[in-house]
Amino acid sequence: MDRLIYLDHNATTPVDERVIKVMLPYFGIKYGNPSSIYKLANESDKAKEEAREKVAKLLHANSTEIVFTGCGTESDNYAVKGAAFANRKKGNQIITSAIEHHAVLNSCKWLEKQGFKVTYLGVDKYGLVNLDELREAITDKTILISIMHANNEVGTIEPLKEIAEISRQHGILFHTDAVQTVGKLPIDVNDLSVDLLSLSGHKFYGPKGIGALYIRKGTRIDSLLHGGHHESNRRAGTENIPGIVGLGKAAEIAAKEFAAEEIKVRKLRDRLENGLINKIDDVFINGHPDKRLPGTLNICIKYIEGEGMLLHLDHNGIAVSSGSACTSASLKASHVLISMGLSHEVAHGSLRFSLGRDNTEQEIDKVIEVLPTIVEKLREMSPIKK
Ligand SMILES: *Cc1c(COP(=O)(O)O)cnc(C)c1O
Repeated sequence: MDRLIYLDHNATTPVDERVIKVMLPYFGIKYGNPSSIYKLANESDKAKEEAREKVAKLLHANSTEIVFTGCGTESDNYAVKGAAFANRKKGNQIITSAIEHHAVLNSCKWLEKQGFKVTYLGVDKYGLVNLDELREAITDKTILISIMHANNEVGTIEPLKEIAEISRQHGILFHTDAVQTVGKLPIDVNDLSVDLLSLSGHKFYGPKGIGALYIRKGTRIDSLLHGGHHESNRRAGTENIPGIVGLGKAAEIAAKEFAAEEIKVRKLRDRLENGLINKIDDVFINGHPDKRLPGTLNICIKYIEGEGMLLHLDHNGIAVSSGSACTSASLKASHVLISMGLSHEVAHGSLRFSLGRDNTEQEIDKVIEVLPTIVEKLREMSPIKK
């Protein structure tokens, strides 16, 4: 069988061989607990701190500002809930957007049950938050603004610097979920002027089950996990050393290679985009035309369902995502596409291609060859024809 054509890098990425290689000893002979005080343990501790430096370097942060977590979801929970409770005396309002990842959205929903008030900003047809709407939403009770750097479904990149400036003017903490941009775009926490930034290892060729939260020095934030004195008392629990070492290596590789990769991936994405638009009628692109992640292409193909296309593509050895989550019992259209103003019917016809560093022109051309035939077949059977 042909090699799988993997175009779902926003869901997860394969672990880089170089990352696997440096992780392996920490599953084996280098098993020491970094909190212990003999040589074996010191080795783990040293590896952990070296990895922290590498992650800090990728973000242009100080290593004391990096806390390792169990995943991107934990980083988001920690940032949103931790900042909310630590600043509760100052106020109880949080501002976020309607298109955040569920790690942020559902943390906010939970905080509403604890007496916090959350404002969910809408977005325009490209998925951009409106800065005027943000300014109007701010009250003297606002303690946190949480807006993602780039959206995982459509790839739209939000105006972080402008949002950060508004937060600064009002003395409000600013968190960003940068899980989709770390390792793909240049990130400088001082230039972006964020207080809290979430990232996840498995979204940029590191392992699953490891993430980090950047916490600007002096930021008030409560911990989620209480126990031992790990991570400078911020996140209790014996550290996931193989994961941390892997995350460090992934960060080191990204810092060196992302610029060249961005150009390569963008070129392939544009080739796919143009190819599909030329060969299929009644398609349109979701997300911003240029303020968009280099590897993300989200399209709606009218009159048919994303799931059907996804399954046929899978049958042809091509892995992509669709805009509706049919894993849940009720077939729910994407909250991102609905927020961007799409009807449920059209949103169900969405497909997300997310490209990565190993994709090739041949793979892209195969998709451009295969998908139009699938669409034709499905449209012939579709009850909602033109
Ligand atoms: C994947 C993702 C997360 C969650 O990260 P995990 O490590 O899988 O928990 C959060 N936010 C965004 C934008 C993501 O794409």
